Amino acid sequence: MITQTSISYYGLNYVEHAEADFKEMKAHGVTQVILAVTEFDFDFWRPNIPKIVDKAHELGLRVLIDPWGNGKYFGGEQVSKFLQDNVENRQVSALTGERLPYACFNTNSYRDYFRNFCVTLAREAKPDGFFWDEPHYAFPKGIASITGGVADDWTCYCPVCRKRFEDYYGYPMPKYMTNDVKQFRWREALVVLSDTSKALKEIDPKLEITCCVHATQNGYYVSEYRGYDNWDMVGACPYFDVFSTTIINWALPEDFFRDITDRTVAIAKKYGKQSERWFMGYYKQPKDWAQVAKWVDIAKDAGVDRIAAWTYRGGYGTVVGAPDALKLWDTIGESYRRVLNK
Ligand SMILES: [Zn+2]
Repeated sequence: MITQTSISYYGLNYVEHAEADFKEMKAHGVTQVILAVTEFDFDFWRPNIPKIVDKAHELGLRVLIDPWGNGKYFGGEQVSKFLQDNVENRQVSALTGERLPYACFNTNSYRDYFRNFCVTLAREAKPDGFFWDEPHYAFPKGIASITGGVADDWTCYCPVCRKRFEDYYGYPMPKYMTNDVKQFRWREALVVLSDTSKALKEIDPKLEITCCVHATQNGYYVSEYRGYDNWDMVGACPYFDVFSTTIINWALPEDFFRDITDRTVAIAKKYGKQSERWFMGYYKQPKDWAQVAKWVDIAKDAGVDRIAAWTYRGGYGTVVGAPDALKLWDTIGESYRRVLNK
């Protein structure tokens, strides 16, 4: 049974404006706001963030904070203050040795920065939880990935990762992605999220953690290898409460959506978590509007616990707005109200 219907929101400036938007979300059947807090918001709009969370609570909405695009390690279009302020601690290409515009989340520098960001917001804003939004290494993406091209190069080959690899395995880190490298990347990728999730639960055990990973095939032939493609390892993390998978385009085959949905539910059940599936509420819209209700029903019938869409008002007014953004938002709202019997 679907118990939560989420929408992401990045209008994080004025409380009275957020209030009007939250009321509109309520009218669209939303139960939970995924509050996309950028590094700039954290640095500049801090006084208003707790007030905005309070206002959402007052109106009966749950709030999960999304460290949107933080370090460009998480998904999202925002720019990263960490990268602006740090020349070191970036992910490094294994093949060319170039430093890339992605924070290396295996460095103590970024791990501290990220933990402080989350712990501070947990204490000051008192949300219901946090949302780990498409964490990833810069490369690679599999050739059959929905998000990218051929995977030759990979990260991270920075001095910190290389030293940690050699300390653990007793030989220098290869430039070829061997099984040891894959295992190392999976294990290290979970450290930053596990440590921060644990720290958050120590502040308040009721804080709920959703880990949302790329909706990849993870098949025998193709895998994205972006650090969180081993769903069993992600699902087994004791500090995560909800196992979630990201958006796929409405134009992709229904069978692919079903496959991702079924595997998401299976992993969540296997590890005693709730399951969540995301819908494309920005950028593209289905050719036939009835597809929204149909795919929501597929998720419901598959046993998904929570559904979510990116983003408020279909991305209206942004470069990633759907062609008929407000119509997409209304259509998603109709399905939200329907599954909640509202
Ligand atoms: Zn690194």
